[in-house]
Amino acid sequence: MPDCIFCKIIAGEIPCNKVYEDEHVVAFHDIQPQAPVHVLFVPKKHMVSLQAMEAGDEVLLGHMMKVVAQQAQALGVSQGYRLVSNCGASAGQSVDLLHFHLLAGRNLQWPPG
Ligand code: AMP
Repeated sequence: MPDCIFCKIIAGEIPCNKVYEDEHVVAFHDIQPQAPVHVLFVPKKHMVSLQAMEAGDEVLLGHMMKVVAQQAQALGVSQGYRLVSNCGASAGQSVDLLHFHLLAGRNLQWPPG
């Protein structure tokens, strides 16, 4: 297993500000928030990015999207949020375990840059 900070969070080896967890996914507040609400959704199955999806992972990813929508509701931002997954270093990915950023609570610009 690579030296992955999110793996350590999933394993409970380092703390996080958790908002949700089930047997497939964990969600926690980003340590360097880029918006008033900035939550990360991470699968417990290790895959580097969407490019590493295998047959059958559609079920996991679909479940994650359902969890995102439920948590957007729970966080009070279901009227407007952005969901981002940086895929690859040139797109800004810094942690090599698939994750989705939920950003909300301010007006978000487009294009994101
Ligand atoms: P990315 O750059 O798309 O790979 O996103 C990685 C995100 O993980 C960044 O927004 C970081 O601020 C965030 N991050 C890194 N370490 C931690 C941590 N220990 N707890 C919460 N978020 C973290």
